[in-house]
Amino acid sequence: SYDDFVRTFCTNPGGFVVREYYGDSIFGVNGHAMKKYTSRNTDFAFLVTIKLTEPLENTTIYGMRLAQLTNTLGGGKPLLQRLGDIIRHQRSTWERIRRSYISPTLKNVTPGDISMAYPARIMTDIREGLEALDKVIPGVYSDSTLIYAPEIKFYAIKIKTDKFLRSINLKNLFLAGDGVGVSRGIVGAAATGIIASMGILKDEGIDYKELLK
Ligand SMILES: Cc1cc2nc3c(=O)[nH]c(=O)nc-3n(C[C@H](O)[C@H](O)[C@H](O)COP(=O)(O)OP(=O)(O)OC[C@H]3O[C@@H](n4cnc5c(N)ncnc54)[C@H](O)[C@@H]3O)c2cc1C
Repeated sequence: SYDDFVRTFCTNPGGFVVREYYGDSIFGVNGHAMKKYTSRNTDFAFLVTIKLTEPLENTTIYGMRLAQLTNTLGGGKPLLQRLGDIIRHQRSTWERIRRSYISPTLKNVTPGDISMAYPARIMTDIREGLEALDKVIPGVYSDSTLIYAPEIKFYAIKIKTDKFLRSINLKNLFLAGDGVGVSRGIVGAAATGIIASMGILKDEGIDYKELLK
């Protein structure tokens, strides 16, 4: 309805949902898979991209407020809700979740009503996004699909660098990893390491293009 960008991220077949600390006593969720242990579930992040212009450009403040409100409603914990309860505009309870086909891998959460914390626009994006995803992954838009909130991808503040990730303000400092503010995942973070290495080699008078051959 809103022409917003919604995407999946970090799909973990047999994975586990875990709590992630956002700072300021606020907890969100994330997902991961383990080599030796598997669950019966698959988890993934389902993310709505929020871009703000004026008067508030800082999406980190906006995201933290949403996370805080979600935690407040969850009594200091993330919220858990069945998709069916979201569709029927009712809160989830442990009793309702127990009657479902899917058992949550993260139990340190509070069953509740995410729509009490998230704006209607984001809830609509999530619902419509999952409905569209159901065409590719049949069954994902089912009553028993479990939705945890908040899961927010915060980008670090972008540090001023040149194209080799060399700091503009501090001499001889190269930056790599998510901390530079241009990545938010393993592949992107690793790529920043390669880019910074190229810059260091260039400064040392070594032709990095030769090394790549
Ligand atoms: C639960 C979870 C699941 C994730 N799942 C995915 C996924 O499926 N796919 C994906 O692409 N990304 C995922 N991510 C994001 C991914 O982990 C990060 O994007 C990536 O690890 C960033 O790499 P980095 O090298 O910048 O930082 P990090 O991997 O965080 O490495 C920084 C290192 O620096 C060390 N360190 C910190 N401070 C100091 C200090 N003062 N002195 C010395 N060492 C220090 C830390 O101990 C750490 O080892 C996930 C993140 C989390 C938390």
